[in-house]
Amino acid sequence: MRLLGAGLGVCLAALVTTLTAQEAPASAPAMRWFKGNTHTHTLNSDGDSTPDDVVRWYREHGYQFLVLTDHNFVTGVDGLNALHAADDKFLVVKGEEVTSRAGEKPIHVNGLDVARRVEPATGATVGEVLQRAVDGIRSASGVPHINHPNFGWAITSEELQQVRNNRLFEVFNGHPQVNNEGGGGVPGLEEVWDRILTSGTLLYGIAVDDAHHFKRPGDPLASGPGRGWVTVRAPRLEAKALLAALEQGDFYASTGVVLDDVATTATALAVKVKVEGTSKYRIRFIGRGGKVLREATEPTATYTFTGDEGYVRAKVLESNGRVAWVQPVKVAQKTARASVGLWLAVAGLGAFVLIRRQGRTLLEPTKDATSASV
Ligand SMILES: [Zn+2]
Ligand SMILES: [Zn+2]
Repeated sequence: MRLLGAGLGVCLAALVTTLTAQEAPASAPAMRWFKGNTHTHTLNSDGDSTPDDVVRWYREHGYQFLVLTDHNFVTGVDGLNALHAADDKFLVVKGEEVTSRAGEKPIHVNGLDVARRVEPATGATVGEVLQRAVDGIRSASGVPHINHPNFGWAITSEELQQVRNNRLFEVFNGHPQVNNEGGGGVPGLEEVWDRILTSGTLLYGIAVDDAHHFKRPGDPLASGPGRGWVTVRAPRLEAKALLAALEQGDFYASTGVVLDDVATTATALAVKVKVEGTSKYRIRFIGRGGKVLREATEPTATYTFTGDEGYVRAKVLESNGRVAWVQPVKVAQKTARASVGLWLAVAGLGAFVLIRRQGRTLLEPTKDATSASV
């Protein structure tokens, strides 16, 4: 029995080591948060201001990066960066809103950091146009995000779910005519998001301005700046690092809530809100089917996975209507974990039998058993 216990002990130690390694990679670089907007127009399409004025607005309002995404046009950023960029303080990233139609439906997909202009996509169906736009952006080395699905009531949740090689969509767009909330039987974008996540497709939700108007401050009918953004965790302020973090879901989207930290481990999701003024907060943890798993009333909260949520994401609601969306994480099923434990136990038992048969010392066979389980 002592030998069996030792064998199991080694296996359990291996399991703990594996989990610990997942939680805290030893070589992780120092990470920082960078606030940015990935959807902006200038006079080069239907915006009302020069690229210089647009960049200046974001630079002066606490952003660290901005992607210029004119309709079917790549606005050059070298001159803008020469004027406005500073190491780890501010960066302009080039981009394009690839603007296509499927019949009468507007199909807009942003290409972030595209190496060249991407032609509008054509196709017989919404799904076809969407996929070709995404593929065109990927082939130009850009990162796609699907814009305002409810603008023109163009893209259904089923059509969105079927797109391949796309990880990002706008769960919030600051333009006043994009129908974020849904209506008339069409679901709002959070419901769309939960439907897609529930189907097993991992999709991250971003918030953007889609700013066109910098000369109409205070006009609710204008698409002004400062309404929606992402805050990305990356080792440095460079386009590739920012976009990699976006595609890994290492960011939160916001319409005004600032987070001090988001921590995901193999067992839990923790959110820490930066409390501002007299605001109060609710932190809602959401899982399969859009089910609210827990609602915390403190500005710091942790949700421990039970194993049957499918996924867990968090939404922070501020007392004046501002919101932050923390990205979903897939939750490993309990049964899968249990079977790993069982498998390791069987490996331990195998080691015990081996020891008994071959009459070796304790160390050798357990070593074999451990290496076989890796
Ligand atoms: Zn658009
Ligand atoms: Zn736009």
